[in-house]
Amino acid sequence: MLSVKQFVNSTFNSNTYLIKSEINPRSGWLVDVGIFSDWFEGLHSHCEIEGIFLTHAHYDHIYAIHEVISLFPKCKIYCSEFTRTSLIDPKLNLSFYHEEPLSYSFDDIELLKEGDRIELFNRIELMTIETPGHNKGSLSFLLEQYIFYRRFLGSRTQSGYKIKKRQY
Ligand SMILES: [Zn+2]
Repeated sequence: MLSVKQFVNSTFNSNTYLIKSEINPRSGWLVDVGIFSDWFEGLHSHCEIEGIFLTHAHYDHIYAIHEVISLFPKCKIYCSEFTRTSLIDPKLNLSFYHEEPLSYSFDDIELLKEGDRIELFNRIELMTIETPGHNKGSLSFLLEQYIFYRRFLGSRTQSGYKIKKRQY
């Protein structure tokens, strides 16, 4: 059984999600890293973050990427090709317009495209859905009963995760 914990960045209102499973309680996965919380350091003593799925590379969704990778150096980053380009470029990821321009250019990135599947906890498949609109490289992720998304709704955008049974 999966569990999803949500962290909200109070400045930017963006979300970070921690996915865990009782299949392997020592393993965890993240969707976006828009906030760095003391809680991550507490997690470090008993859990390994295996990977980070990025919905897109706007600053408020990647803010803590360096801190999380330094705590969990074996962690891989999964994102679209455009997101990888944006991670390197502070203007594309919009951090240029904030106090601390952010650039991430390490080679621990695995590119995802429509339909790509990644196995979590040696048993559960996460599926990639390309959802351009809010940002050219936006991805959503389908994982059992959850969908993690950043979608464009006319003039406004909405992000979060939903339990499919309630959504459909
Ligand atoms: Zn954005």
